[in-house]
Amino acid sequence: MTQWTDPSTLDRMPLERGEADLDGAWRGALVLRVDPEGRIAAADGIPEPLAAPGRRRPSDILLGRARDHVWFARPVDRIVGESIGWRQAAAADQDVLASAVALGRWHGSAPACERCGAATMTHQAGASRRCTHCGELAFARTDPCIIIAITDPDDRLLLAHNVAWEASRVSIVAGFIEAGESAEQACFREAQEEVGITLDSVRYISSQPWPLPRSLMLGFVGRTVDSRITVDGDEIATGAFYTREELVAAVESDEVVLPQRASIARSLIEQWLSGR
Ligand SMILES: [Zn+2]
Repeated sequence: MTQWTDPSTLDRMPLERGEADLDGAWRGALVLRVDPEGRIAAADGIPEPLAAPGRRRPSDILLGRARDHVWFARPVDRIVGESIGWRQAAAADQDVLASAVALGRWHGSAPACERCGAATMTHQAGASRRCTHCGELAFARTDPCIIIAITDPDDRLLLAHNVAWEASRVSIVAGFIEAGESAEQACFREAQEEVGITLDSVRYISSQPWPLPRSLMLGFVGRTVDSRITVDGDEIATGAFYTREELVAAVESDEVVLPQRASIARSLIEQWLSGR
């Protein structure tokens, strides 16, 4: 299983966000520059943090402690030179980079107070934003999504092709949880809406942060007693159930392309392939 089911490699230092402690944290800290697209400054394909230069800027965001360093994110308008996405980093760096991308993008996109519309300022070293007029505090939001590996009575796996994807790419069913809905209810609804499948049961497996834009993927497995598929045509173009042998052959012949290795979609597919 991938690293996101283990404890985070980032200690988020909840008790050290007070301003008095920050000057101490700043000394020897590393600063990641993040642009509005969630790209991180890099050199030779490796994240390139600045050693805490000069004075801390009010917009610098405390991420926490990882690999014997304190890390900050610094939102910048654009990165001059090479940059990488958080998923391209080594697994050991992905927790701190995912937080840098999630918080960096949120601070860049939440300049106004949701209550009164006045300007907000970085607060608690970036753990929140505070309204300059009414004092309202705002915290970064995470949008939960479900992603579900659906199998039929013959233990075949359902893979679907999204209309927005390149020709042969397939994955398992996924979608946002709607307001007032549980994660399990979203699984039943998405299966019905996207592929016309009535699920018999669902079971939670694990989750993965996905900070572009600001999602948390909640991974499930589910079973259906009826293998008939009716795709919605809007989001899903085609769908089919595969045996393990059929899927291995389809991948080897390039008939289908599976989700990238760092994704929870791929992890759930591999789990089914291995017979677990
Ligand atoms: Zn306000």
